[in-house]
Amino acid sequence: MHPFVYQRAMTAETAVRFAGMGEQGAPPLRTSYLAGGTTLVDLMRLGVMQPDLVVDINPLSGTSDGRIVIDRRGLRLGALVHMSEAADHPDIQAEYPIIAQSLKLAANAQLRNMATLGGNVLQRTRCTYFRDISYKECNKRAPGSGCAAISGVNRMHAVLGTSDHCIATYPGDFAQALIALDASVELTGPNGTRTIPFASLHRKPEDRPDQEIRLRPGELIVAFRVPATPWARRSLFLKIRDRESFEFALAAAAVALDQQEGIVRTARIALGGVATVPWRAVEAETLLAGKSIDEQNAAAAADAAFAGAKGFGHNDFKIELGKRTLIRALQQAAALQI
Ligand code: SF4
Repeated sequence: MHPFVYQRAMTAETAVRFAGMGEQGAPPLRTSYLAGGTTLVDLMRLGVMQPDLVVDINPLSGTSDGRIVIDRRGLRLGALVHMSEAADHPDIQAEYPIIAQSLKLAANAQLRNMATLGGNVLQRTRCTYFRDISYKECNKRAPGSGCAAISGVNRMHAVLGTSDHCIATYPGDFAQALIALDASVELTGPNGTRTIPFASLHRKPEDRPDQEIRLRPGELIVAFRVPATPWARRSLFLKIRDRESFEFALAAAAVALDQQEGIVRTARIALGGVATVPWRAVEAETLLAGKSIDEQNAAAAADAAFAGAKGFGHNDFKIELGKRTLIRALQQAAALQI
C-alpha cells in the first residue's frame, strides 16, 4: 500500500484545515477523508486510490454531522449517519420511504452498519478495469490511457451518459432517492460553507472521467437536506439485480409521485444501474404530468427516459431492462395506498 499520513480530526474545521496541509511551495497533498472506509480502504488496498494524507472524520459523528433531524421543513441527514440507522428509522420509512428502501437494498447488513451516507454517495465505480490496476487502459484511473471496457466485457456498464472516454456505471442507490426528492447537499471547505442541489454533485465522464464530483479542493460533505414535498410519501425504489442480496443494480428506478384522483401532478424519476451518474429522467417526468399512470403512459415515459441510451454489446439488454424496471416502478408507486 502507498504510504500515507494519518490525521484524526475532532471538528469539521480541523478536518478541512488538515486537508489543506502541505509543504509550502510543494504541490498539494492528495487527501482523502475517512468515514466508514468501506470504499476507501478497499481501493487503497487495491492500489487504485493512493492518498498521501488520510483525514479521519469519525469523531465528527457526535456532532450534527452524525444526526437525523425531521421537522415540518423536511429531513436533514448528517453525512456521518450510518446507512443502517437511516434505513431503520421509522419516520423515514413512513415519510420518505424511498430513502429507507434505497439504503436497505444496498450492500449487506455489516456494510450498512459501517458505511456512512456521505461516503455512500461518493463511492467509486465497480468497473473491473478501474479496480484492477493490472489493466493499463482506464481513463478514470489513469487519464489519457484509454478505456478497456468499451471493447471489453461491459455487461455491467452504463447505457446513459457515456462518452468515448468512459462508460462506467455509477454504483450507488441512495443518490437516486435523493435526486427524486429534490435534495440538496451541505458542504464545508476552506472558503466556508455552501449548499448545492444534490443533482449537480456528480459529473458525467465526458472527456475527463477522472473528475467525478463537483467538490472544491478540501471540501467535505456535512449533510443532506430533503425538503418536505407532496411526492415524498408516494415514493419507492425498485432495484433489479442478478441476485437478491449484496449485489449492484443492473437497473433501478427511484420514483416519487404527487397524484390526485389518479392524475399525476408532479413526477420525479431517477435511474440507477444504467447510467454514469445518478440519472434524473426529466423527459419522462414531463411526459407524465397531467396524466394517469396506465400501461401506455408508463411505457411512453420509459421510452422517453431511454431515448438517448446506447449499448456497447454485452450491456445492450440494459435498455429494455431499464424500461421495464421504470414501468413497474411507476405502476407500483401509483398503486400505493397512502
Ligand atoms: Fe476506466 Fe471508465 Fe473505461 Fe471502466 S469504463 S475502464 S472506469 S475509463
